Amino acid sequence: MNGLTGREKMITDEQEIIRILDESKIVHVGMVDGDEPYVVPMNYGYTLEDGKLTVWLHGAIRGRKLDVIRKNPKVFIEMECALQPFDGDIACRYGLSYSSLMGRGTAEIVEDVEQKKLGLKLLMKTQTGKDFEFEDKMTTIVSIIKIECTQFTAKHRPLPKN
Ligand SMILES: Cc1cc2nc3c(=O)[nH]c(=O)nc-3n(C[C@H](O)[C@H](O)[C@H](O)COP(=O)(O)OP(=O)(O)OC[C@H]3O[C@@H](n4cnc5c(N)ncnc54)[C@H](O)[C@@H]3O)c2cc1C
Repeated sequence: MNGLTGREKMITDEQEIIRILDESKIVHVGMVDGDEPYVVPMNYGYTLEDGKLTVWLHGAIRGRKLDVIRKNPKVFIEMECALQPFDGDIACRYGLSYSSLMGRGTAEIVEDVEQKKLGLKLLMKTQTGKDFEFEDKMTTIVSIIKIECTQFTAKHRPLPKN
């Protein structure tokens, strides 16, 4: 089952997937906290190499999401971009054109300093398009989470033809 509604098309072209990863800027990270879901919106950086997607997050050094990930590293991510509302002659013909990406993965709280600096570089590159360098001491005040996606899909809902 691919979840397509007929209005949507699956995106498999890598350049289109990269466009979603570059433009979305915010990822919604779903976690499982005991017996209840927990979702946190976050900025991210990424790499996509040989079809393998890795998402990097940064944040405070304590908090609920870190506690949850330590207990259960399984996560689900969602991001979207290119949102374009459109209208119609009746209510049900109104809608939204979008591109989106969803995937499952495993989160790791990164401890290695070089890996933390890499995460920060990738995050700043994705968020700003610029290259930044980080000193070791900068990594002590943030936590870095690395999500290795085991599977992901991307979709586009185009504007209606007329
Ligand atoms: C667009 C956007 C981008 C963000 N980017 C980042 C980022 O890159 N890095 C980062 O660390 N954080 C980011 N945040 C904030 C993030 O969503 C969390 O608030 C933050 O990471 C703290 O998460 P925590 O699990 O440690 O919560 P805690 O600080 O432990 O919070 C405990 C409780 O506070 C409430 N709470 C926490 N966060 C929020 C919230 N955002 N809105 C309402 N209630 C909340 C919840 O009930 C939660 O259970 C972003 C938020 C937004 C909206």
